[in-house]
Amino acid sequence: MTPLAHAIEEIRLHGVRLHRLTMDQAVATVAEFLQAGGAHHVVTADTSAVVMAQHDHELREIIERAALVTPDSFGVTWAARRLGHPLPERVTGVDLMARLCAHCATSGHRIYLLGAAPGVAEAAAERLCARFPGLRVVGTHHGYFQPEEEEGIIAEIAASGADLLFVAFGIPRQEKWIARHLERLGVRVAIGVGGSLDVFSGRVQRAPRWVQRANLEWLDRLLRNPRKISKVKTLPVLVWLTLAAMLRGTEGARHRGR
Ligand code: UDP
Repeated sequence: MTPLAHAIEEIRLHGVRLHRLTMDQAVATVAEFLQAGGAHHVVTADTSAVVMAQHDHELREIIERAALVTPDSFGVTWAARRLGHPLPERVTGVDLMARLCAHCATSGHRIYLLGAAPGVAEAAAERLCARFPGLRVVGTHHGYFQPEEEEGIIAEIAASGADLLFVAFGIPRQEKWIARHLERLGVRVAIGVGGSLDVFSGRVQRAPRWVQRANLEWLDRLLRNPRKISKVKTLPVLVWLTLAAMLRGTEGARHRGR
């Protein structure tokens, strides 16, 4: 455990572990992981992750063991606040990835992009390098590989010399993949970033800033892509869990220092 990670408070939201931290603290903590020895798994936990972890014990255990768990969605910060444990801000995967690319462009740490449809990671790499001069992307691979290709991809990542691996397969597949292979990937930090490569490649537009600020990014995603309904449906589930916990007068989020 690095000093910054040790100092960050932890809460529980419906039994799921989350760190109480700002974006700046998240970036500083990951920067510390990049300097420290060992391999660190960072989870950006959105509403769907908290809801899935109610039944998916493997996911819940992975979140329990992760080096850092950031609150990635409006639903998560809303629920934590209702249950008496306000979190300072959302730390989303896409925003954290942008901040970490900026950091790596100056620190010299190397990144690898894994996931999304063929061609997307390469396009994202190109645009990220243009946006953050000095950024070293040492490899990319799409996320639609066959099981028999997996060992080769793991070996490729380990041989690439990457310090930071972004995995974009969607929740919970990316978290399970990272947890299963982390020790063999040779990276210091691995983060699941969902649809972020689609955004950085320019194939998917992020909601306008005012929509993000109004906490309506989920609605924008749904309108653009109705197949997102299964993910969006987790928001009313989280609201229901939270209202039920409030009615019971129980603490859905338990406070625990680290
Ligand atoms: N994806 C992938 N391999 C798969 C399934 C999905 O690489 O077998 C990619 C998909 O192309 C997309 C990302 O995983 O880029 C999932 O994005 P989504 O926005 O659904 O993730 P979320 O952030 O909602 O978890």
